[in-house]
Amino acid sequence: MKLHEYQAKGVFADAGIPVPDSQLASTVDDAVEAAGEIGYPVAIKAQVQVGGRGKAGGIKLVDDAEEAREAADEILGMDLKGLHVDRVLVEAAVDFTDELYVGVTMDRTEGKPVAMVSTRGGVNIEEVAEEDPDAIVREHIDPAFGMHPYQARKAVFDAGVDRAVANDVASILTQLYQLWDDKDATDIEVNPLMVTSDDEVIAADAVMNIDEDALFRHPDLAEMEEEAASDELEAKANEYGFDYVRLSGNVGIIGNGAGLVMTTLDLVDYYGGEPANFLDIGGGAKAERVTNALDMVFSDENVDSVVFNIFGGITRGDEVAKGINEALEQFDEIPKKVVVRLAGTNAEEGMEILNTDLVTVEGTLEDAVQRAVSYAEEEQ
Ligand code: GDP
Ligand code: MN
Repeated sequence: MKLHEYQAKGVFADAGIPVPDSQLASTVDDAVEAAGEIGYPVAIKAQVQVGGRGKAGGIKLVDDAEEAREAADEILGMDLKGLHVDRVLVEAAVDFTDELYVGVTMDRTEGKPVAMVSTRGGVNIEEVAEEDPDAIVREHIDPAFGMHPYQARKAVFDAGVDRAVANDVASILTQLYQLWDDKDATDIEVNPLMVTSDDEVIAADAVMNIDEDALFRHPDLAEMEEEAASDELEAKANEYGFDYVRLSGNVGIIGNGAGLVMTTLDLVDYYGGEPANFLDIGGGAKAERVTNALDMVFSDENVDSVVFNIFGGITRGDEVAKGINEALEQFDEIPKKVVVRLAGTNAEEGMEILNTDLVTVEGTLEDAVQRAVSYAEEEQ
């Protein structure tokens, strides 16, 4: 499991490792407000789990509100190396003189953890390792004894880190090893670890990967995985203009109108299922809105089946049915079983139009919900 930068920085901060003041934002307005609170200049950073965001245009330094708005608008919603950017971290910019690299990982050939230090931070460390392997100092650690302070100091001095900050860098390295060990991490990396003109050392970036098999020992980290998924879905809902709340169950619910969605939710519960979400797609149900709604429930890993409860009003039942068909025809394979119940204007016509190769059609809400609950149970 990979933590997001903002999550890893939270873990670092709790462990006493210095990180810049920052706030997470999923809308342009929130990003600008956060920047104002933090104080300019700030860095606006895409929260997606890839390296090299800087080069790819996912990080912008800005000096005032106007620039912040422009940068947030550009970064939010952008496609960064195939990943959609839903959130940005707005962070106090660091006025740095040097960029270092520090990290801890498992050296599989030695079967021991290894701490690494380099004065060539701020660039892709794999490239440094190829071009100039000596620029990275490696210090193996005996896990039975942990990292001795002298080992950290040795690695830092051998790497040629400026004496003025060597002790601080060494203690950060020791803290990183401690975290690596305590949190069952597979890798921890700070690139760059920035050195400022007044000799402060601060983690400007943070990578932390956790051993999936050890997550049960760390409910706080497991929760972060859940939280990140919820945040992403909520940001998506924002973008699509849906009312959405992620819940803890596995039956996805899509409806138009808050009352209709609430009723569906209650019925799922009544029939022994657990709702995965509240999703109100609002007035109408044109193909695009249906596609967006499906994108949301299908991208929720917890969802095992989906129930549509749509009331044809201004948008008639037959149009809704066409929308659902069109949306589902875009999938080579429909990832989760979908049950549809239509009511209101032209509901009968709509149910006839629905492509039963793609969805299960039920005449009443009770039947539709029971069907979706049993589909979800089959997946368990
Ligand atoms: P990555 O490219 O995804 O690894 O993202 P990083 O957080 O490592 O940022 C990449 C580069 O952006 C850094 O090496 C810096 O050169 C620059 N950068 C990031 N944050 C700041 C900042 O607060 N101040 C300044 N001046 N540069 C920054
Ligand atoms: Mn980095």
